[in-house]
Amino acid sequence: MSEVRNPATGEVVAEVVGASVAETDAAIGRAARAYESWRNVPPGERGRLLRRFAAEVDAHLEELARLEVRNAGHTIGNARWEAGNVRDVLDYYAGAPERLTGRQIPVAGGLDVTFHEPLGVVGVIVPWNFPMPIAGWGFAPALAAGNTVVLKPAELTPLTALRLAELAREAGLPEDVFTVLPGSGSVVGERFVTHPAVRKVCFTGSTEVGTRIMAGCAEQVKRVTLELGGKSANLVFADADLERAAASAPAAVFDNAGQDCCARSRILVQRPVYDRFLELLEPAVRAFRVADPATETAEMGPLISAGHRDRVAGYVDGATVAFTGSRPDGPGFWHAPTVLLADSPADRHWREEIFGPVVSVLPFDDEADAIRLANDTEYGLSGSIWTRDVGRAVRVARAVEAGNLSVNSHSSVRYWTPFGGMKRSGLGRELGPDALHAFTDVKNVFISTEE
Ligand code: NAP
Ligand code: MG
Repeated sequence: MSEVRNPATGEVVAEVVGASVAETDAAIGRAARAYESWRNVPPGERGRLLRRFAAEVDAHLEELARLEVRNAGHTIGNARWEAGNVRDVLDYYAGAPERLTGRQIPVAGGLDVTFHEPLGVVGVIVPWNFPMPIAGWGFAPALAAGNTVVLKPAELTPLTALRLAELAREAGLPEDVFTVLPGSGSVVGERFVTHPAVRKVCFTGSTEVGTRIMAGCAEQVKRVTLELGGKSANLVFADADLERAAASAPAAVFDNAGQDCCARSRILVQRPVYDRFLELLEPAVRAFRVADPATETAEMGPLISAGHRDRVAGYVDGATVAFTGSRPDGPGFWHAPTVLLADSPADRHWREEIFGPVVSVLPFDDEADAIRLANDTEYGLSGSIWTRDVGRAVRVARAVEAGNLSVNSHSSVRYWTPFGGMKRSGLGRELGPDALHAFTDVKNVFISTEE
């Protein structure tokens, strides 16, 4: 039994019983049996069921959003977007079963065709920072491709995933096609890795745990997709629209209280505009609205737990603080938006993923210096480039080692474009038109036409 708390108040909002190893095995067994019929549901019918699932999510959007505000402390505006994202991702991949086409390849003496075969049971392991979207990015394409899914939400945030599983049943998805198993990573999550009937693990979380999962999956040559940590750079060149760059920088890192793998947590500013940029950044940070996440105007809520808040605060102790924003008094796991000046790229707060509302700023000299500093990290998830020079924008975008880059903007994830990391930020890509291929294996069939 584990207690689920409201991060804005510290109060217990639910108690959830975690699945045991035996219960996990039983659920995987049921999912494996359900796969035998789910994979044979005609493409049009599978698509229709996913569209009905999307419609159920849409009909319960406000309920799901309110539940996420209570469980994860997300602002109500963000939580509505997140529930809407689950709906949209389901709708997008509902079109996939009918489009999962193979190839016909010219050969002598016969016909050669390829099929994208589903894998079987897919295990999805979800972190606490975006409980709904990250679940959907795994289960929607996995189901569309004909797999059945067992999903483990984070122990801290299981409530919306449990509700989504109920909505799937109400939409008419057959029993055991999509199962949510709350529980701990070391019990339920580990079992997804070791159980031979789970043919793929789709993991989002820390690089540390992801590395262990990849090693565990190697034992069975189990397929794996990893979406891991980040320390993304926001590069501001002297020729940029400084007002826009400074005005947008706080949300690019403090959204979701910085608990975002794509957070632009390193700001690199070209030396001639460094002081001016900080002058513009300060009022934007001070104006960032940190408030009860249930209020419509809140831009940032609390951190997920007291332990995480203390960990984040540890990065600020002893560092050079340029300025901070505000935070409410009283209970809850609050941390004010904080801007740190890096003395050098060796600073701990410059190098490590903080996963909280803390951003580090460092000046750079020229384009080559900016690229070198941006790439001086084990991570490679996302980043932003601010410049009015089109050639520079393209050169820098090609040179920065990250899976998702944004020019003169801090684009959030779009479900119809690919998302994922380079280097230790991950393996494989989610979303977009190609994600289906991460949930299928190519089969080649040759049919002889000889008499
Ligand atoms: P985490 O500790 O790696 O946990 C992620 C998930 O894995 C949780 O459901 C956790 O269960 C489970 N888990 C833990 N140990 C496991 C094991 N040995 N075997 C199988 N599963 C296990 O990460 P977190 O603290 O929840 O999230 C923060 C991290 O996730 C950050 O580093 C962040 O960058 C990263 N992240 C990356 C992305 C991305 O798309 N690249 C997105 C979001 C988050 P419990 O809840 O029981 O611990
Ligand atoms: Mg953890």
